[in-house]
Amino acid sequence: MGDAEDLNAASDSVRFWSKVIRGPRPSDCWIWTGAIGDDGYGRYWQHVPGGQRMWRAHRFAVALVFGGGELGEHETVRHESCDVPLCVHVAHGADSHLLLGSVAENNLDRSRAGRHANMYSLRRSGGRRRDQAALSREIRDHLLEHGWDAAFPALLAGYSPDQERLF
Ligand SMILES: [Zn+2]
Repeated sequence: MGDAEDLNAASDSVRFWSKVIRGPRPSDCWIWTGAIGDDGYGRYWQHVPGGQRMWRAHRFAVALVFGGGELGEHETVRHESCDVPLCVHVAHGADSHLLLGSVAENNLDRSRAGRHANMYSLRRSGGRRRDQAALSREIRDHLLEHGWDAAFPALLAGYSPDQERLF
């Protein structure tokens, strides 16, 4: 409930979307080019009375587009049509790369995919998170330096052009 009131939609919207670069086609990802956390997801600091509130950028995009009230404690946000943590492509309708779901739905997805958390998987995902953060930073830096060029889609797919040259 408080989320909706805290969202100063006009100024946050301008500040947030100024850090996003959209792909050339309507179906492309919209890539966050601001701060990136160790989990590989974007970070957005919203000014709130008395300080700042940290958001994962893709969750903030959902809050901006759908309204903060939709993002209650029990809502999850997941990337549906892409696996790009930096993607903040939120839209009403089929073009959206991000979907809102309940925690229950999210758990169901995890169990279907055999991703029950245990000591082994937690260790493994710890390693994957670090790789993901490095890839996210590489994707952001490439986009800021070169724009959405011919090499960029391969980067997004998780392949580094440098690595491809080795084979
Ligand atoms: Zn996407």
